[in-house]
Amino acid sequence: MESSLDGNKYRLATNCLHAGQINPGVAAGVINPLYPSTAFPYLEVDKFAYPRYFNTPNQEALVTRLCTLEQGEDALVFSSGMAAIFSTFLALLDPGDHAIFQNDLYGGTHHAITAELDRLKITYTLLDEITRESLDRACRPETRFVYIETPSNPLLNCIPIDVVAEFAREKGILSLIDNTFASPVNQNPLVLGMDVVFHSATKYLGGHSDISAGVVISSAGVIGKIRPVAVNLGGNLNSQMCHLLERSIKTLEVRVTRQNENAQAIAEFLSAHAGVANVFYPGLRSHPTHEIAARQMKGFGGMLSFEVKGDPDAFVRRLRLIAPVMSLGAVESTISSPRLTSHAKIGPEGRKKVGISDQLLRLSVGIEAGNDLIDDLGEALKE
Ligand SMILES: *Cc1c(COP(=O)(O)O)cnc(C)c1O
Repeated sequence: MESSLDGNKYRLATNCLHAGQINPGVAAGVINPLYPSTAFPYLEVDKFAYPRYFNTPNQEALVTRLCTLEQGEDALVFSSGMAAIFSTFLALLDPGDHAIFQNDLYGGTHHAITAELDRLKITYTLLDEITRESLDRACRPETRFVYIETPSNPLLNCIPIDVVAEFAREKGILSLIDNTFASPVNQNPLVLGMDVVFHSATKYLGGHSDISAGVVISSAGVIGKIRPVAVNLGGNLNSQMCHLLERSIKTLEVRVTRQNENAQAIAEFLSAHAGVANVFYPGLRSHPTHEIAARQMKGFGGMLSFEVKGDPDAFVRRLRLIAPVMSLGAVESTISSPRLTSHAKIGPEGRKKVGISDQLLRLSVGIEAGNDLIDDLGEALKE
């Protein structure tokens, strides 16, 4: 898609608004027009557009914006994060191949790996700890890629992206990262040497709890491999949702900047509170991976978790502003109990193994006035 702007010239906050401007002339005004058509002419064009080919005008405008934000060459926009992730796995892995995954992954991704790859005769290693040594030990001649997620859910552990990228480069395999928790505002893995970036756009990119979408961003070569498989699987996002997602991204930098500020203030408040046992936020010096986060993140993000000393369910019920709902990354603050939601399936023993106590709560910090959120938490902590 021809863009009227050079994304390299501007800062991220500006590119959130203007990268991928279609520039169709005076009739359209200042926003990109919505092209709902599913039928396009085939004469006098190199390739004709079709939604499932991932090449309609609204898809391409969004792709330009995403590539500018993550410094990629090409991207594909899907109807969910899992569609983006699993279409990519199917494109990059053949029967007999092997892949290395971080064990501590988003539950849906972890489940998709263990439920689907075996019967496709694809082998994999799930690593509890990602270090150069553990990666070297897991790597085989048939290994095709390494896949990580940082910061992790729900303890916000950070993995050194440069170590993973260098390992992959030296072994001649691809490095993949789910960058959903950080968002492109706080972390740009392609700049740090990774090959492929995913986002569940259902979270921060959409940001208003009303869009389901997913993206993969990479080099033109890698996207060229994923595209034909994605076309066969048919998980494309429709034009209306592309238009809505493009609109959401306009405020991404403003939203995430406020979320970073609110989360830092809340993490500090909770750390000092007698009713709270532990706080996990990469922006706190006490966080085990604070140094790694400080090296690779531009902001520490809007996600944090903490352990209350009292009954966690009673505490959640006492909150007035912060809603107990699944999902994350929205403008409204939300809270969830990993014990009852994301990590219910692995059971008490499984949770203990990965350091998730029954007292742990995960907070997705929104853009409300920070002091109102602190007051809400403070009130609910009074038993
Ligand atoms: C939600 C989420 C996904 C999956 O995205 P969907 O849009 O629900 O398919 C993948 N990774 C992370 C980190 C997520 O939070």
